[in-house]
Amino acid sequence: MAEQIRVLLTEEEVQRRITQVAEEINRDYGNTPLHLICVLKGGVMFMCELAKRLTMPVSFDFMSVSSYGSETKSSGVVRIIKDLDEPLTGKHVLIVEDIIDTGRTLAYLIDVLKQRGPEDVRLCTLLDKPERRVKKQVSVDYTCFTIPDAFVVGYGLDYDQKYRNYPFIGVVDGVAESEEKESAR
Ligand code: 5GP
Repeated sequence: MAEQIRVLLTEEEVQRRITQVAEEINRDYGNTPLHLICVLKGGVMFMCELAKRLTMPVSFDFMSVSSYGSETKSSGVVRIIKDLDEPLTGKHVLIVEDIIDTGRTLAYLIDVLKQRGPEDVRLCTLLDKPERRVKKQVSVDYTCFTIPDAFVVGYGLDYDQKYRNYPFIGVVDGVAESEEKESAR
């Protein structure tokens, strides 16, 4: 049976908010070069939209991680599937994420990246689901939207690899909790 997708945030709302967050980043960094790290695949559309609005010199790199180990989805194991191409030494790093849920992925990623000698590491997310946070130490520097605990798709986010190209954020109705994160990334 096809999933029902209910619009949570329209394309206009998402675009407007990304513009505001980009302006905030522009104010904070001024002309300091910024190294954006996109967490694949979900972060791609957000990173492109954000980057177009940034005014400092910007470079890109990409990383792919799997949130969970092979056994259970609650194991907290994070595996690097594709590592960065560039060193981080002396760089001002901004991690660009699609969504922060339990925070396990980011807690791990921030730890790993900080060991590579960047000047600083900050975090920018399109969506945040704070109700589900397990790793309370993950502090988010820039959040576009805080959303309730629901499984969302669109703007890079998938369900079973579908809907990433939707230009809005939608909630998938009728998806069991256990199915959700297995399909993500
Ligand atoms: P965390 O480690 O914070 O629990 O999980 C983060 C990752 O889980 C996200 O980058 C994303 O891939 C996936 N995820 C969490 N919530 C959702 C959701 O509502 N929709 C989709 N499509 N993926 C999600």
